[in-house]
Amino acid sequence: MNIFKYTDSNKRYHTLTYFYKNKFNSKVFKVSLNAGFTCPNKDGTKGYGGCIYCSKSGSGDYAGNINDSLINQFNEVKDTIHKKWPKSKYIGYFQANTNTYAPVDILKEKYEQILQLDNVVGLSIGTRPDAISDEVLDYLEELNKRTFLTIELGLQTMHESTSKLINRGHDLQCLDNMVHELKRRKIHTVVHIINGLPYETKEMMIETVKHLNKLPIDGIKIHMLHILKDTVLAKMYIKKPFPVLSKEEYTDIVCDQLENLRPEIVIHRITGDPNANDLIEPTWLTKKFGVMNEIDKELARRNTYQGFNLSILNRARQLIINNTKPNDLVIDATIGNGKDTLFLAGIVNNGHVFGFDIQEDAVEKTNNLLMKNNKSNYTLFLKSHEYMKEVLKDHIGKISTIIFNLGYLPNGDTTITTNYKSTIKGIKDAYKLLNSKGLIIIVVYPGHKEGLEESNELEQLNYNINYYRNTDNKEAPYIMTIKK
Ligand code: SAM
Repeated sequence: MNIFKYTDSNKRYHTLTYFYKNKFNSKVFKVSLNAGFTCPNKDGTKGYGGCIYCSKSGSGDYAGNINDSLINQFNEVKDTIHKKWPKSKYIGYFQANTNTYAPVDILKEKYEQILQLDNVVGLSIGTRPDAISDEVLDYLEELNKRTFLTIELGLQTMHESTSKLINRGHDLQCLDNMVHELKRRKIHTVVHIINGLPYETKEMMIETVKHLNKLPIDGIKIHMLHILKDTVLAKMYIKKPFPVLSKEEYTDIVCDQLENLRPEIVIHRITGDPNANDLIEPTWLTKKFGVMNEIDKELARRNTYQGFNLSILNRARQLIINNTKPNDLVIDATIGNGKDTLFLAGIVNNGHVFGFDIQEDAVEKTNNLLMKNNKSNYTLFLKSHEYMKEVLKDHIGKISTIIFNLGYLPNGDTTITTNYKSTIKGIKDAYKLLNSKGLIIIVVYPGHKEGLEESNELEQLNYNINYYRNTDNKEAPYIMTIKK
């Protein structure tokens, strides 16, 4: 079984290859094109000079030759690919500069000539959030009904100070508004960000991703800042060098960012692919597959995946996996809807799960769920967990993992909730049931009245406790673990 849902390999994030394969049932290649557009922060509308990091080609270094017709640019790439993968499909990728920054007639003429070519299944259009007029939006909406349209919006950072420094010429609100406009028209919307912009901290880069995660985006492109020759950025860097991320730092930041992105969001890119001759720093960027491997390795080392940090329950499951072997005896002290019980039963396939709950409904639901999943390695007790030591007196010192998922039954009676007195008695008895490598995992929900009281009381417990949190929000659920 793959650890991550949107993959059929060892990837722990939602790759574009996986997305295209499932959508088109075929290999799909994006063919980069240069349609000769400009940008509003180049031509004086919003400013001059463009973004300070942008190359002469308008970040379209792999796009075709501007002096060549679009069809020739397309065919040149397609013919090479076709020899190797004759059955593949193509997406015309309008990459260089701002590809919606022209009157609608011109856009139509350029897009449609690519769209009518054989085996073209979609268009991907790179642009800026401040450069799509209402008229163009109407056209894109209509176009989206005829083909698979992707709009890639450049943001780079949510932070205003950096945005000014790099001469973007629009603010975050502009991006937010355009994402909503495009999603209202059901268009696949991707946002482009850059890590390692001058003077940004790791926290700032993660904040940008957390912000995007709250927007209805479909995809994200993550790039490392390229310092390219003959750019304003290069001059700035040579005059007064600023810290450049190492490959290890970049890997660490990207993994943190992935952990904070909804798993459905497609990762259209995870590292850049600069032309080595133009690159000043960082030189490690030229080994694209090396960077991708490092990211895979780091996620595997952490045993996390895209979206991991969005629910503390993912951490609880990881702790269970790390502490539990197939022959073990384990306890679910609060079975509720039975999800944790089923998870435990799947891990201890040669062992046994004991489950407790005070609600008949919970025991019945859990029993049904486990039977439906062909599990038989479990025993459920309609009893408070404060009696677990008496009930399991023959297993004292033999249990490896015990989970308390506190609070009330999701989608059930919210007035029946765990109570600190029975919880504390339960935890103390659970400790006695543990074997020498045993672990108690407690998920605490301080966001409701009883939960807050429980949280305050649990703090007083006299054990060596580890805490796991996935946010600074004081009301968010968190985990406590007690190791034997
Ligand atoms: N683990 C569950 C799941 O995966 O669906 C969710 C558990 S839910 C947050 C908390 C459960 O604790 C509720 O079903 C509630 O009835 C149960 N509960 C409350 N007090 C209890 C007690 N003293 N002993 C055992 N279960 C208790």
